[in-house]
Amino acid sequence: MRIVVDSEKCEGHNRCYSIAPELFDVDDYGYATEANGGVVPEGMEDKARLAIDNCPEYAITIVEE
Ligand code: SF4
Repeated sequence: MRIVVDSEKCEGHNRCYSIAPELFDVDDYGYATEANGGVVPEGMEDKARLAIDNCPEYAITIVEE
């Protein structure tokens, strides 16, 4: 599974990082980018989906199941 953060949509709420710090990096302003090239380690798919569901800007999408 691979995810991507749309930097145009991200408003820097930091919620994704709070839920899944293993899957995201955030800058000093709270804007997120996907960690590890977006690759979600095995067993972390549910956490990734939770982060996606909790992004108020719908900025995170799954690009590969
Ligand atoms: S939850 Fe969404 S809007 Fe907030 S930092 Fe993460 S990707 Fe950006």
